[in-house]
Amino acid sequence: MRLSDNITTIKGIGPSKAKLFESRGIYTVSDLLNYFPRTHDDRSLQKSISSIIEGEEISITARLASPVVTNRIRGGMFYARGKIFDETGMLDVVWFNNPYASNMFKMDEEYTFFGKVRRNKSGNLQFQNPIAENVTKNGKFTGRIVPIYPLTAKLTQRAVQDAVFQCLDGLSEPIPEILPRELIDRFSLLDSDAAIRNIHLPESFEMFDKARRRLVFEELLLLQLGLHSLRGAREVEKCQPFDNVECVSEFIESLPYQLTDAQARVIDEVCVDLKKDKPMTRLVQGDVGSGKTVVAAAAMYAAHKSGVQACMMVPTDILAEQHYRNLSKLFSPFGIEVIYLSGKMPAKERKVAQEKLRTGEVTIAVGTHALISGDVEFWNLGLVITDEQHRFGVNQRTSLAAKAASAHTLVMSATPIPRTLALVLYGDMDVSVIDELPPGRTAIETYSVNEKMRSRIYNFIKKNVDEGRQAYIVCPLIEENEDSDLKSTVEYVEQLKHTVLRDFSIAAMHSKLKAADKTQIMRDFVDGKIDILVSTTVIEVGVDVPNANLMIIENAERFGLSQLHQLRGRVGRGSYQSYCIMFCAPNQTIAQERMKVMCETSDGFRIAEEDLKLRGPGDFFGTRQHGVPEMRIANLFSDMDILKDAQTAVAEILAEDERLELPQYQGIKGKIENMFDRLERS
Ligand code: ADP
Ligand code: MG
Repeated sequence: MRLSDNITTIKGIGPSKAKLFESRGIYTVSDLLNYFPRTHDDRSLQKSISSIIEGEEISITARLASPVVTNRIRGGMFYARGKIFDETGMLDVVWFNNPYASNMFKMDEEYTFFGKVRRNKSGNLQFQNPIAENVTKNGKFTGRIVPIYPLTAKLTQRAVQDAVFQCLDGLSEPIPEILPRELIDRFSLLDSDAAIRNIHLPESFEMFDKARRRLVFEELLLLQLGLHSLRGAREVEKCQPFDNVECVSEFIESLPYQLTDAQARVIDEVCVDLKKDKPMTRLVQGDVGSGKTVVAAAAMYAAHKSGVQACMMVPTDILAEQHYRNLSKLFSPFGIEVIYLSGKMPAKERKVAQEKLRTGEVTIAVGTHALISGDVEFWNLGLVITDEQHRFGVNQRTSLAAKAASAHTLVMSATPIPRTLALVLYGDMDVSVIDELPPGRTAIETYSVNEKMRSRIYNFIKKNVDEGRQAYIVCPLIEENEDSDLKSTVEYVEQLKHTVLRDFSIAAMHSKLKAADKTQIMRDFVDGKIDILVSTTVIEVGVDVPNANLMIIENAERFGLSQLHQLRGRVGRGSYQSYCIMFCAPNQTIAQERMKVMCETSDGFRIAEEDLKLRGPGDFFGTRQHGVPEMRIANLFSDMDILKDAQTAVAEILAEDERLELPQYQGIKGKIENMFDRLERS
């Protein structure tokens, strides 16, 4: 068997089973070996029947002394019992609610049973619900540390285990090494082959730790080298310094409010960069509502006054529209025109807008990633801003930067990033932090509630809307299928229109609406014509309607912490007392912990740390929401030590061979190219 073989070459995987593997991204033997276990069961403690201790997790190799008999008991449940023996004694075995137990065994074959031995009510020792395996037939997963894989519906644990075992057993070539020998020795890493084998079927927990360390190291090394190669070329470039930055003070004076100290400081930091002939690469981090837009606007004003163009790219149409309106308002006292560009606007309008950018008739543009499409040309682009940049793919960000190889770049992110992640993502950027909210904001009261509270919550909405406020109700993507998502939102709105909220104007917002309809709904909400906006998470980032003071989140257990924090950030933007109310299904431990964190703190940095802590590695949304590939094994919260080693290695490699041209780095180079392909496709 070879690594590149299709998984159907594995015994027991036919076309229909292959589909199940494919749904987890596993097409080849190599993919399967890179599908890491979620955890391991320690089945290595082998005992004989006479030496068992109550409560211990053990494996016993034994035969049946009598056939297993299954009975139906109360409530349609099954209860199966049998007796096993080895050289040292006999033991009762029972299974609760396993209707197949009596068909699993042949009388004269040997099995290994794994599980816990407990005492029943009459005081006799019993092996309860053990996992059993035929020693002569299988016998691979007994008496050892056994991998437990993440599963999807229908894909069974045993199917994955069997497949992995066959691959490790039948592979006719070693798993290739992509790291240079020198690096492996210097950081005392296992080689690739040993690491992959021990991550699945470790000889010992010590070997498992070594395997994991090696694979985490590799993953973090690749990530950092990958990010570097995407933005690497920039550093040598020079750019045209802005020649009129002082004018920013007149822009600041024109604002309807006084800047916070933090905003003023960050604008100063940006202005210093803009005067240099080295392109700025600055990240502005500020919690939701801290007022990042005006910082971007100040920089754009400086661009205009210095005779170059500035553009701001944002992840959604809704946000692009909003920024367009805001910027137009902020710049209108100076007679500066702003261009709006979206992939969804009519071709004619778009052509006109593009023409103005190409000739330089207009200097300020805002839009979605339509800004980076091939047919958009700038006359002289000097400043590129991305807002909510964690929402963009890494490649999208770089294509924008490529449009303006020598432009200043300013990147804004509301998702506070834990220190570990910041090191990975922005190791080579300057960072400005807006660590202060505009004055007059009151803390958002946050509650986690259950269904019993529903009618009281509707009354609470009614009361607030009667007082002139507005509310958001957010429904999560219930399935990955957009159509059913849409249906549930629309149906929910219909339902609300016939309950206690029937007197109000309610609208539904979701991704399937036409751009023009979305725009109209947002305008109506901003203008107060809509009281209650029922929405999917399309309003998650950036939306700013200060009069809205209620954020109701349905099925809050389905959201990650950072996402909840972003959603909550839609309210508390004006001077009204604001509330965030999360409907949460009971009995979900992680969800309950998230709710607790949400109710306890509004500090985005703390929330981001807790978010990483509560998520396991490989969590689908874990890193994707920061715009980096999903980590398969590294945990950016707890693997700080390995991250430091990886960073040392990255620095050394880059110092020696920044473009990874030496033969020993070709393995790494190949992987990096692959990594971002995958991200773009997903
Ligand atoms: P975010 O950092 O989340 O992007 P915004 O830039 O959308 O925040 O600003 C949030 C709200 O606060 C907006 O309505 C904006 O007009 C207002 N705002 C920004 N700065 C100040 C300030 N210094 N004083 C009062 N209001 C401000
Ligand atoms: Mg914003």
